[in-house]
Amino acid sequence: MSLIVQKYGGTSVGSPDRIDRVADRIAATRGDGHDVVVVVSAMGKTTDDLIALAETVHSDPPKREMDMLLTAGERISMALCAMAVEKRGVEAVSFTGSQAGILTDAAHGSAKIIEITGTRVKEALAEGRVVIVGGMQGVDPARKEVTTMGRGGSDATAVALAAALGADACEIYTDVDGVYTADPRIVSDARKVDEISFEEMLEMTASGSGVLMSRAVEFGRRFNIPIHVRSSFSDTTGTWVKEDSMEQAVISGIAHDRSEAKVTIRSVPDRPGVAAAVFDPLAAAGINLDMIVQNISRDGTTDISFTAPISSIGEAEAISRSTARELGAEGVTVDRGVGKVSVVGAGMKSHPGVAAKVFSTLAEVDINIEMISTSTIRVSCVVDAARVDDAVKALHDAFELGDVPDQGEDQ
Ligand code: ADP
Ligand code: ASP
Ligand code: MG
Repeated sequence: MSLIVQKYGGTSVGSPDRIDRVADRIAATRGDGHDVVVVVSAMGKTTDDLIALAETVHSDPPKREMDMLLTAGERISMALCAMAVEKRGVEAVSFTGSQAGILTDAAHGSAKIIEITGTRVKEALAEGRVVIVGGMQGVDPARKEVTTMGRGGSDATAVALAAALGADACEIYTDVDGVYTADPRIVSDARKVDEISFEEMLEMTASGSGVLMSRAVEFGRRFNIPIHVRSSFSDTTGTWVKEDSMEQAVISGIAHDRSEAKVTIRSVPDRPGVAAAVFDPLAAAGINLDMIVQNISRDGTTDISFTAPISSIGEAEAISRSTARELGAEGVTVDRGVGKVSVVGAGMKSHPGVAAKVFSTLAEVDINIEMISTSTIRVSCVVDAARVDDAVKALHDAFELGDVPDQGEDQ
């Protein structure tokens, strides 16, 4: 008998019918003799709706109260799921993150899991119950405050629980049947990959691929918990995210991200200490920067651009304006209409020419590259937001990542 951790996303628990199907699967897994711990997201678009609701009451809601509000979403689905499982004659109990002993730091809205005690989870499992835990949430033990981990946080709850409870693997049930070579909503011939390494999946998620939360993949890698991403609507095998992948493609996928904006500080005097003066106050405010570009100096001044999450761009702009004034720069421009496309693949370490091919592919479809950044296994370009889909499709074609048709055109 083994312990199985299953996580069901918002679409998978989006209606009473779907909760019934999820409960069937949970009851069947329990029926096979496994201990089962389930993590659920809020139903359907509940989290989005709650965020919109809060914004009608307050344009910048206090983060603590946002966490109180958002955790209600997962509380609804965990209780309904437990009821649906009970209806099948299988004993079940639901727990909030706090009741499950998921201890986090104090950062409301982006809390990090520090420890999982899991006392009540283990007791309930020992009593033969299925345990259903509300995703994305925990508690800061120092202040006894409820916290959330940010969008997609239920993935992190699931993989961290799998690690803490000694599960062999973690199943992530979602609305696609695995990890694809690009978002299947954009690229119609995107191909499901059977396996992908933690390293590549981390680059995909960090580059905006929404199918898993980055921190879930980090937990998987740190504790070596293989993650099986699969569909809650079928029984087909999905994608295994694990230490070493057998698939050795040069490029494993294309990711895109529309959640960032670009700030440019124009004509900054080019002298030692200027970059520090620009970025120190942004760091002190806890703003996560992504790309940074400093242009070639002309007449003793230079432009400095960076990208940051749209959610913190107002603060980043205010800080940059004050720095620009102090430094005697010309001014600050904010561009919210940008997006990022990234080509990811461990094989590029040993295959030269990937970056050049990215640039020429974008040039062929007349897409201007505004910023570039690379890691050893990734090439990312910031482009006009309106051209992101075209860029993803063109790169997917250029690197021949699509499904091989059954009957080739030249047959
Ligand atoms: P859940 O609510 O189950 O957590 P998400 O919406 O968070 O589901 O994640 C699943 C979605 O991720 C898919 O519907 C798909 O549009 C999107 N996605 C983005 N990139 C990829 C990719 N490379 N492979 C599969 N899905 C992707
Ligand atoms: N419900 C949360 C969200 O929509 C957490 C999750 O689904 O993982 O982001
Ligand atoms: Mg998700």
